[in-house]
Amino acid sequence: MLVKEWDYAELAQKNKQYVWHPFTQMKEYIEDDPIIIAEGNGRKLRDVQGNEYWDGVSSIWLNVHGHRVQELDQAIRDQLDHIAHSTLLGMANIPAILLAEKLIGLMPQGLAKVFYSDSGATAVEIAIKMAFQYWQHKGKRKKQRFITMKEAYHGDTIGAVSVGAIDLYHEAYSSLLFSSIKAPYPYVYRSPINGSGKEQTDFFLAKLEEVLKAHHEETAALIIEPIVQGASGIIVMPDGYLRGVRELCTKYNVLMIADEVATGFGRTGHWFACDHENVTPDILTAGKGLTGGYLPVAITVATNEIYEAFLGEYEEKKTFFHGHSYTGNQLGCAVAIANLELMEKKNLILEVQQKSLYLAKELERFRQLRHVGDVRQKGFMMGLELVVNRDAKEAYDWSERIGVRVCRRARELGMLIRPLGNVIVFMPPLAATTEELDAMLQILHQAIQEVTEG
Ligand code: PMP
Repeated sequence: MLVKEWDYAELAQKNKQYVWHPFTQMKEYIEDDPIIIAEGNGRKLRDVQGNEYWDGVSSIWLNVHGHRVQELDQAIRDQLDHIAHSTLLGMANIPAILLAEKLIGLMPQGLAKVFYSDSGATAVEIAIKMAFQYWQHKGKRKKQRFITMKEAYHGDTIGAVSVGAIDLYHEAYSSLLFSSIKAPYPYVYRSPINGSGKEQTDFFLAKLEEVLKAHHEETAALIIEPIVQGASGIIVMPDGYLRGVRELCTKYNVLMIADEVATGFGRTGHWFACDHENVTPDILTAGKGLTGGYLPVAITVATNEIYEAFLGEYEEKKTFFHGHSYTGNQLGCAVAIANLELMEKKNLILEVQQKSLYLAKELERFRQLRHVGDVRQKGFMMGLELVVNRDAKEAYDWSERIGVRVCRRARELGMLIRPLGNVIVFMPPLAATTEELDAMLQILHQAIQEVTEG
């Protein structure tokens, strides 16, 4: 990689002067030396000072093949020779049409119509409004509320936060939000009952059924992160739970929204997490990996049953009144098509399944670390929950910043990762080779050991 000579001090000063970073305490941040990325290549990033790092969180859970992938770069260049963007409001464009066709071919059976937007949060926002308006059109006007899972995360816009349930992200805005009904998520490591996976599944489904029984008449939809609840700490559901959720939603006449923003496009070892249990939700949201981590395109995909409820005469005002300036952006759709084609060409889903087995084997040695309480994995989504004491599962106090410290050490050792509280998240790009994964795991192990035992 050739890095143009940049004056680090000058850029750092401008960064401090002009940029407000997301999810970042700026007071602390501006006192530190920032990493300023200049280049990427394959699974590595390089900063302006020439340091190289493994991209251990796939640039926040979205990178698929790596950086500067020839086929994806070329797809954007080719599209640029035609047009970068024109609106999808009332007119169409070539990549948006072809991508929608391709997506429906990959989706769980029954999902039929693609609505484009530009981030996971907007995809969720759209799903909420679609589900809400669907019931209005169906004449069930009381169905206006949403059931969500405790500790769920669906993005940062007001609607998405309203169906989220992580107190830390919600507290400040609580008076702005609409209230959702919360059901307990099957967090088996800290479950109130002992018992096997099947017993856990049955227990948590029974809890969910209580909620549905009490609230189904006022509920438009249930929203869930299928198979893996991500931002709460990479928490994997027990087998059979998702299928049970689908059955309960059907039984109580509540729409099911599967938020696959984090889990979609191979991340868990299938195209979609719903595929693990042959579930078709009524609405599916996705984003992140769709463009291989290149450009912001997200989707909300609905069944024909939902789509058709919005059809009517112009005067009836049944239109879905929603859209964004960059909805259906050609550059984004073009690179998404190239990404999906490359995934198919490389048989990446099968590869992820095989490498996941390898990762599972390698993760075993993390269980020997004194302060690793739980090791969770589904495909290329991994979370290691750190605890003060393994027997009591005692959590580290927030003020100890244990996750932050481990990630800081990993950075010194050459890998960029971000924690979720006391959970160390490891989400390498799906195309990382076993040799690359070994190098990353080595850093992860050393960082955890040194910080928690050192
Ligand atoms: N839903 C889920 C399940 C997510 O994990 C995320 C982001 N991590 C979002 C929605 C929000 O996506 P975005 O950051 O693209 O708005």
